Amino acid sequence: MIPVNRPLFISGEAKYLTEAIRTGWISSEGPFVKEFENKFSSFIGKKYGTAVSSGTAALEVAIGAIELKPGDEVIMPTFTIMSCAVAVVSYGGIPVFVDADAYSWNMDVSQIEKKINKRTKAIMGVHIYGHPCNMDAIKKIARKHKLLIIEDAAEAIGAEYKGKKCGSFGDISCFSFYPNKTITTGEGGMLLTNSKHFKDRADMLRDLGFVKEKRYYHSEIARNYRITNIQAALGVAQMKNVRKLVKIKRDYGALYNKLLANIPGLQLPAEKPYAKNIYWMYGVVLDKSTGFNNESFAKKLAYHGIGTRSFFYPLHRQPVWKKPQYRRVAEKNNGNFPVADKISKQGLYLPSGLGNTEKEIRYVSAVIKKLLI
Ligand SMILES: *Cc1c(COP(=O)(O)O)cnc(C)c1O
Repeated sequence: MIPVNRPLFISGEAKYLTEAIRTGWISSEGPFVKEFENKFSSFIGKKYGTAVSSGTAALEVAIGAIELKPGDEVIMPTFTIMSCAVAVVSYGGIPVFVDADAYSWNMDVSQIEKKINKRTKAIMGVHIYGHPCNMDAIKKIARKHKLLIIEDAAEAIGAEYKGKKCGSFGDISCFSFYPNKTITTGEGGMLLTNSKHFKDRADMLRDLGFVKEKRYYHSEIARNYRITNIQAALGVAQMKNVRKLVKIKRDYGALYNKLLANIPGLQLPAEKPYAKNIYWMYGVVLDKSTGFNNESFAKKLAYHGIGTRSFFYPLHRQPVWKKPQYRRVAEKNNGNFPVADKISKQGLYLPSGLGNTEKEIRYVSAVIKKLLI
């Protein structure tokens, strides 16, 4: 079976891991954590980095850093990963969902403003599947209504909006280093910001809410979201090759674009004029006229030895909101989200990890062509 993702280690990982073991620095106190924070933040173009244990933790710490209060609202796409909503709900906030744009699969920015009210505190912009969301539009709305921007750039490491890196726009931006992301630490994540205030709060919130000057003294409830020196060792090694890794993503995207062009009923990823897409995971959406939805198509591909993954199940459809304690989330989001509903049933992504091979991509494309033409 061709896996939907295979990670790639170009050089240096084993050396840095060995160094962590040899020196005995394995916890979050080790020197690779700061080195990784510095290397990654300067690559994206932000002043400060706080490395944490996952992308989900990064989002949660970001929400804590902006001091979201119970009942405060954060606007976000419904077509995204659950982590975005979890971060807000964990502080008693209410995620407010916006439908997707049918072409880029990102949040439809024209629907943001009508969701804003006096409880709205922030907009969470998520760059879906490696394609930047419309940052100018989000910035304009945020400025007009005095809202903060949290940028979830987990799927867009190396992607650019108008020539600037995704993750360089938000008041706080968040990243994941899960193995299917552009660089990986196994599990891990990071928040970036230019604000010393947010940086200090993030450092405190990843570490049990320790008051800086006084150990075992806590002024807030916070969890342990520290990353280890072992994970950061991987991160430092991966950063040496990050430009190569981004190029492989783009090359694989371009290859799929070429091989899958002009197949009736098959929608390929967009690249808007302002965007440099990294094709994080190469997604396709099947028109209903093909006779397939993502599940039946995935079965056909699996029969040919090809692994795939269905698109996100949208947040407004998550059964967890039926629980009584989340009634307000359900009530707030009882509208219609037709685009997200459609792409979540008709969309799936194809083998496109950094460690997948060109040969695999050619085989996958040939099988898809045979099935649809
Ligand atoms: C992967 C991902 C996350 C979560 O990261 P984890 O490290 O798996 O917790 C958050 N947001 C987006 C958009 C992601 O793709």
